[in-house]
Amino acid sequence: MAKYAAAEACVKAVDQAVHTLGGNGLTREYGLASLITAARVARIAPVSREMILNFVSHQSLGLPKSY
Ligand SMILES: Cc1cc2nc3c(=O)[nH]c(=O)nc-3n(C[C@H](O)[C@H](O)[C@H](O)COP(=O)(O)OP(=O)(O)OC[C@H]3O[C@@H](n4cnc5c(N)ncnc54)[C@H](O)[C@@H]3O)c2cc1C
Repeated sequence: MAKYAAAEACVKAVDQAVHTLGGNGLTREYGLASLITAARVARIAPVSREMILNFVSHQSLGLPKSY
């Protein structure tokens, strides 16, 4: 769950930072554009957020395995 929450917070923080700076948020000078990709990776690797939720629902909540 920590990995899931960290990835979501990271993506949200970077997106907010870019949006705060408007067009400048996407220029090389501010260094945020490359963080969009770096942050986005956290929602996919090493395990996607959907697979984290699948695992929690199965292992912690005792719901039927759906994958
Ligand atoms: C930068 C980077 C570095 C990596 N480095 C490594 C590494 O060093 N070693 C290594 O082993 N792997 C590495 N990977 C691979 C990484 O582990 C996989 O990309 C990751 O596990 C997701 O698997 P996938 O890419 O096959 O996507 P898929 O599993 O095909 O997922 C595609 C989409 O379908 C969704 N999905 C898949 N299954 C389900 C389901 N059952 N229910 C709901 N939604 C589902 C996913 O959430 C995602 O949105 C790396 C990936 C990246 C991007």
